[in-house]
Order: sequence, then C-alpha cells, then structure tokens
Amino acid sequence: VSGGYERFDVIVVGAGSTGGVLAARLSEDPDRSVLLLEAGPDFPDEETRPPGFFSGGSVSGHHGTGSGAPVPQLDWGYRTEPLADGRRVPLSRGKFVGGTSMINGCIAVRGRPEDFERWVAAGAAGWGWQEVLPYYEKAETEVTIQTYPPERWLPNQHLFVEGCRQLGFRYLDDLNTPDAWDGVVGPWPRNRRNEIRQGTLVTYIRAARRRPNFTLRPGVMVDRVVFEGDRATGVRYLDATGRPVEVGADRVVLSAGAYGSAPILLRSGVGPADELRALDITPRVDLPVGRDLMDHPGLSFVLSADAEYTRMGWPSLAVVGRGAGWWGIPATYDEQEGLIALSFFLALVEGPGGSVRLRSAAPDADPVIRHDYIEAVERGDFDGVWADFQRLLGTDAYRAAHVTDTGAGQPVRERLRGSVRTGTHPAGGCGIGKVVDADLAVLGLEGLYVADASVFPSHVTNNPNLTCYMMGEYAADKLAAAVPAGARAIA
Ligand SMILES: Cc1cc2nc3c(=O)[nH]c(=O)nc-3n(C[C@H](O)[C@H](O)[C@H](O)COP(=O)(O)OP(=O)(O)OC[C@H]3O[C@@H](n4cnc5c(N)ncnc54)[C@H](O)[C@@H]3O)c2cc1C
Repeated sequence: VSGGYERFDVIVVGAGSTGGVLAARLSEDPDRSVLLLEAGPDFPDEETRPPGFFSGGSVSGHHGTGSGAPVPQLDWGYRTEPLADGRRVPLSRGKFVGGTSMINGCIAVRGRPEDFERWVAAGAAGWGWQEVLPYYEKAETEVTIQTYPPERWLPNQHLFVEGCRQLGFRYLDDLNTPDAWDGVVGPWPRNRRNEIRQGTLVTYIRAARRRPNFTLRPGVMVDRVVFEGDRATGVRYLDATGRPVEVGADRVVLSAGAYGSAPILLRSGVGPADELRALDITPRVDLPVGRDLMDHPGLSFVLSADAEYTRMGWPSLAVVGRGAGWWGIPATYDEQEGLIALSFFLALVEGPGGSVRLRSAAPDADPVIRHDYIEAVERGDFDGVWADFQRLLGTDAYRAAHVTDTGAGQPVRERLRGSVRTGTHPAGGCGIGKVVDADLAVLGLEGLYVADASVFPSHVTNNPNLTCYMMGEYAADKLAAAVPAGARAIA
C-alpha cells in the first residue's frame, strides 16, 4: 500500500446523484477539505464528452426512453441473478463523474409526502415531509425543473393524456404538488435546462471543481473503509493501474449507489457476519447490509395505432399518468411498423424482494444482485396495472385512434412474467434504522456514513433521482453540523 499521508476532512465515495451534490455542498466552506472519489472517468470539458451526455433521455426512439449510458464502458453493466425463467435482467448504472444522474431519463419528481412519514416511522427522525421539503426546493433551484408544454407533445402523448382524462384522471400542470397522486395526468417534471440534462457533472460538480479545497479523483475503485478500532480513518482504493492506495479522513461517506455502497461496507467487514465469514472477511459489525433491496418493476405493452400516433420525434417522456399503485407513460416505438408502446411501473414502497451480496472479496468482482421481479407478477402486483391498461384501451380516445394490443390473446400472467424488468430504481440495502441512523451514520461505528439511494428505509412512490439530490443537500447540512470546518486543525 502506498500513500497514507494524504488526509482530508471528508472523503465522499461515488460522484453520482447523491455524492456529487453532497461533496459539492461540503466544499462550499473553504476551510473544509473534501476528496470525491469516483471509479469511472471524468469529463471536465464539453469537447471530450461522448454524445448523449447532454441531451440524453430525450430521444424518442425504439422503446422511447433513450436513456442509458452513451457507451458501455461508462456503465457498470450489471445483470440480475437469473430470474425464475432464467432471464438475467440488465441493470444500468452510470460509471463516471455524475454517475447515474448523467444517464437517466431526467424525470425530476418529489416523493409523496406519506413516503416520508413512513421513513420517520422506520426510525428516520427528522426526515418528515416538512423537513425534507426545503432540501427538495434547494436542489430544484440548482438543477432547474421544467416541463414540456402541450404544444410540444407528440400525438401519442396527447392521446395518452386524453385517454387518462376519460378514465377520470385529474389533469395537473404541476405533478410535484403534494396531492398529485392516485389518478392524475400531466406534463412530467424534468431536470433539463435548454434541453441540457442537469446531472451532477454539469451542475454541482462543475461549480465545486474550481475550489482549491475540493479534490475530485476519478478512475479509482474504492475497495474498503480503513478503521482504527471502531473509527473510520480513511479508505483504500485501487488506482488506475490497480495499485492499492490508502487515504485518510476524519469522516468517510459512501455514496456509491444501491449496488455500490453495500459491497464496500461488506468488504470492510460491515454486514451479515455469517455471509462475511463464508468469504473469509472478518466481521466487524453484524448488520443487515445488502438485504431488502427494492425496485419499481416495470413492463411495456406494444400496440398498433393509426399512423399519426406512431410519429416519432422529440420529446419523449413529456407526460405521465399516475394511477393507484402505478405510473404509466406513452412511448413511440416503431413508426415504420405503425407501433407505439405503453410502459407501466409499480409504485412499490417495499419489495419486490431483493439483495446485494459479494461474489468474492475482490474489489473488482461484480456483486450478486437479486431482484424478485417475477414474484411481483405472481403475487398479483401487476393486476391493477393490467386492469387499468384494459380500461385505457377501451376509452373513446384510444378506440378512435384504433389502438390495438399486439399481444392480445396471449395468457396474461405469462406475458407479464416474460416482460417484467427493472424500473431502474434500486434502493435500500443500507436502510435508515437498519444499517445507518437518522444522521446516516453507520450503526456501531464512528466517522462512517452512507448517503445515496441505498439508505432509503422504504422506497419513494416515484422516480428517485430528485430524492437523491434532496438527500445530498440534507446530508451536507447534517455532516456540516457533525464536522465543523477546520475541526481537525483545532483538535
Ligand atoms: C437508465 C436509467 C434511467 C433512469 N431514469 C431516471 C429518471 O428519469 N428519474 C429519476 O428520478 N430516476 C431515474 N433513474 C434512477 C436514478 O438515476 C438513480 O436512482 C439515482 O441516480 C441514484 O443515485 P445514487 O446517488 O444512489 O447513485 P449513482 O448516481 O449511481 O452514484 C453512484 C456513484 O458511485 C460510483 N461508484 C460505485 N462504486 C464505486 C466504488 N467502489 N469506488 C468508486 N466509485 C464507485 C459510481 O460510478 C457512481 O458514479 C434512472 C436510472 C437509470 C439506470
């Protein structure tokens, strides 16, 4: 191991949605030194960024969403363990500065107020709706939330809004109002400004990289946390050449995401003791790390329609409908074949069952990721989606557009089982109340925190990126209180 002399006030591991916000905010105090470590590369200059970084999430093409990493090297490229039918579902995650905030669909929605009451009940004191709201607002100012007005919508999107209205859904201009649930439709809030995606690379991190007390180190794979007794004193990472390096800090925050933070804790000996012993890792604290991984399972139906509704173009993801327990979006699909699609996602706040475990103690080994998507179908979690999908097809609007289900006649359960996939919203595994306390400090240890989607004690009813930004903002305030700038120099 080389290094060992460098010390910072705070190390943040993972420059994604949460870590990017957190590290940038912590560096606003010039007396606090912040090191932000990131496994993937950095793209500080616009000229060197692959296409798709800026406008990603807007292309209305095959499957309509156009999101995902612009090149495979910038994605962790994980897959689930085989589902009951043997399928291994691809799980996209950004692997570069900006993390998944730079490959996502730029949907920028708040959680539901009740989500946070559930968090408080799970032990997340201080995370009630009134407490998190100012941090949503702070993040929203930073990243710009906009919607596409109706005159920009594609015919397929107008059709969907009309169909939902005929189902009795309320039309709302602002779906980020606290009561915009259970039967509403309208323009989807997006974190885009002048069509530029507002991920953390081009917002928070761009502002922070000018500061002399902020160090961004890309291309380093964090292996584990380093301890003295029960106190975290730094991290050990592999540099670009695979050489192990240790760097010290008063506080370490893991923001490596729902598939990344749990593995770092496990390699550090923090996790289920029996699971760790089986991998020859000495357990340090026995905590349910990696258990209770959640997601919002989704699926799509491909439909034929009159030619005017199959027109592809800009923008996709302009509108959304929220039913009871789901949200649905219209997508263009294949103009030449006369096809469109409807995608539905389950607004589950727990489950459908899943876990992240280590395959081996090697830092570069892919984790073992389980998501029980098919069990969600078997349990009937999609039954409400199916019923509402049928009702939508039966509306005057859809009938007039001659929308027909290309899969009609297939056994329903079989069809749902065959198409269910990730909603790209993994969360949990290091939940507040189970692995970290309400201040995001890992239970039983000093100086070690987790801040990212993995600490959600239950899921938000919604797309989680804005909630990750909110968490980064809130965690920065919590850590600033816990780590007064310059405290190390005084001590
Ligand atoms: C294709 C896709 C589309 C999506 N669309 C939306 C959307 O439109 N709206 C929405 O709200 N949500 C969306 N999501 C989900 C949302 O983007 C994520 O929930 C959110 O980005 C998670 O943030 P995070 O901070 O937990 O993790 P991330 O943003 O993934 O950050 C983790 C960071 O840690 C780094 N890292 C991991 N392990 C290590 C290690 N060992 N050492 C060093 N660095 C490490 C990673 O490279 C990454 O940069 C989408 C997700 C995907 C994949």
